[in-house]
Amino acid sequence: MNEADIRKQVVDSYQELDRDGMNKGSSGNVSARSGEHMLITPSGISAKQMNPDQVAKLKIDDDAGAFEGDCKPSTEWRFHQDIFRSRPQSHAVVHTHAPFCTILSILRKPIPAVHYMMACFDTTEVRVADYETYGTTELSEAVIRAMGSANSCLMANHGMVVAGDSMMRAMWLAGQLELIASQYYHTLLVGQPHVLSDAQIAETVKSFASYGPQEAHEP
Ligand code: 13P
Ligand code: ZN
Repeated sequence: MNEADIRKQVVDSYQELDRDGMNKGSSGNVSARSGEHMLITPSGISAKQMNPDQVAKLKIDDDAGAFEGDCKPSTEWRFHQDIFRSRPQSHAVVHTHAPFCTILSILRKPIPAVHYMMACFDTTEVRVADYETYGTTELSEAVIRAMGSANSCLMANHGMVVAGDSMMRAMWLAGQLELIASQYYHTLLVGQPHVLSDAQIAETVKSFASYGPQEAHEP
């Protein structure tokens, strides 16, 4: 994919999150790796008003946050950048304020393995990153800590973030995370959930290597 295609993919994905009720207004942000750079949604622009020319371009290894483009990058460029730095296999990052993930993040409740689909998050529990002010280095550090070797985490009193090896995978993971958050939330309303064991999740992981969108990224 060339840069123009990636810019379009970033905006299309952000607009899809809005249509699916995963974000509202200008909440959340989306980015994709593009060689040494990342392309990230602009700050404070709603899905309907966003176009590919507004997508900001930043160097992944530049701490200062210098950017190319007419619009300022998302205020959360730090954790997008830190995810790309710490996870060479990740090519797309999706951050949303999706309703059920956000409810659990307000309760500061990690999501245990209440469904076998937990296996797609490379963990047996999706953790909650400590609360930090949005857009800060501290929030980025908290996100990296909470993700660990998983591809997702909740963010206390804020929302969630996922990293994927392609945009298609990251968008799929975001939808799956909101779904399991909803299932867990609704189960808690009626009773005590049964949680799958680590061994049961490990068994599912074996068949999951090839499950779900596998679209390869292009360098
Ligand atoms: P931006 O509009 O700056 O991307 O901020 C939205 C958001 O979700 C902050 O956490
Ligand atoms: Zn946010």
